[in-house]
Amino acid sequence: MSAKGLQVAVIGGGIGGMAVAAALARRGARVTLHEQAGDLAEVGAGLQVSWNGQQVLRALGAVPATGLPPEEVSLSPGTWMMDGPARRRVAFVPPPGPGQTWYMHRADLLARLVDRARAAGVTLKLGQVATPGSVAGDLIVAADGGRSLWRSAIDGPVEPVFSGQVAWRALVPNDKALPTAPATLAMGPRAHMVVYPLRAGRLTNIVAVEERSHWTEEDWNQQGDPVEFRDRFADVARPFGDLLARVDKVHRWALHLRPVARTWVQGNLALLGDAAHPTLPFMAQGACLALEDAWVLAARVDALGVAPGLAAYQAARIDRARRVVALARGNAWRFHLGRPWSWGAQAVLAVGAGALARRLDWVYGYDATRA
Ligand SMILES: Cc1cc2nc3c(=O)[nH]c(=O)nc-3n(C[C@H](O)[C@H](O)[C@H](O)COP(=O)(O)OP(=O)(O)OC[C@H]3O[C@@H](n4cnc5c(N)ncnc54)[C@H](O)[C@@H]3O)c2cc1C
Repeated sequence: MSAKGLQVAVIGGGIGGMAVAAALARRGARVTLHEQAGDLAEVGAGLQVSWNGQQVLRALGAVPATGLPPEEVSLSPGTWMMDGPARRRVAFVPPPGPGQTWYMHRADLLARLVDRARAAGVTLKLGQVATPGSVAGDLIVAADGGRSLWRSAIDGPVEPVFSGQVAWRALVPNDKALPTAPATLAMGPRAHMVVYPLRAGRLTNIVAVEERSHWTEEDWNQQGDPVEFRDRFADVARPFGDLLARVDKVHRWALHLRPVARTWVQGNLALLGDAAHPTLPFMAQGACLALEDAWVLAARVDALGVAPGLAAYQAARIDRARRVVALARGNAWRFHLGRPWSWGAQAVLAVGAGALARRLDWVYGYDATRA
């Protein structure tokens, strides 16, 4: 069996779709990728790529053996956990997994995957909304994101539900390149903020999450108001000095979730990435899981053929995705405690940060290219 000559349609040109398109084409499949947007662009924001995601990027040839230039990747020596309102350092958490975490601009990561996909002969069809019935192939991979249209065709209709969390993201330019610095995660009541350098420190990436009891606006991904942003996060952002004052553009996502799909595969159709397992960002694993899915799907189909390969893909992935998604959901309260509960949690962190990171080795130290 081999993927050679298979006609494959991939729906979605995000990180998951582009990675699986490249992975299948490198194994000889004839891949067409359909992306609804008119151009291939990721959100202007940073992304943490932990060791498990890095292994897939290496195996795809998206990262040279010599490593990435500092203009594209900042290597993280770890994360400072802080009590935001008190401006107090609580613990230093070393990078999870066997290696350092990479901080990358999403656009840089996507560009590397697009380059690999093109080099392997993938045909990119942009400005194409692909609906069930509108595309054909020996294999169809739906990597159409957390609001996947294709998921209902496989796993039945499930509406996304507001998770109670709203994420804000902003990039702040720096005049001078700054040396690689650890990330800082400032915790506070019902909110937290993560700050890390991108592109050799010429940009500072801000991701902030707040709890809200309800969300009424239809649009779940929209331009936010910098004044409202500063206002909502003033307390938790105290360790960052005037950083928020320098934000002139901010995006806001009301995080909606569906549960992990019970079935990822039907016939020659498979779900991948957020389409199969949308997650809260508290483990920084959504894109890394999508990269893992991409490698495993291509490898199993190549080894076993379409139907047995897809069955093996789901069997290899579903439990891991469920566990990581559940862990991410469970992490919200840890970062968002008010007093006096935060003191207890912080005391545990202060003495146990290293052990905590080691307990998560199964997440970040997983190598999908050998699984
Ligand atoms: C605030 C925040 C921070 C995060 N931080 C991290 C992090 O640090 N590390 C990490 O690993 N993950 C992180 N994630 C998660 C990560 O962003 C996602 O899990 C990942 O981008 C999912 O990739 P995907 O390719 O599955 O889906 P998407 O990126 O959603 O891509 C889906 C693509 O499909 C296209 N599409 C949809 N429907 C159709 C259609 N019918 N026809 C054609 N095209 C279609 C869309 O236009 C889109 O381009 C974060 C998420 C959030 C919200």
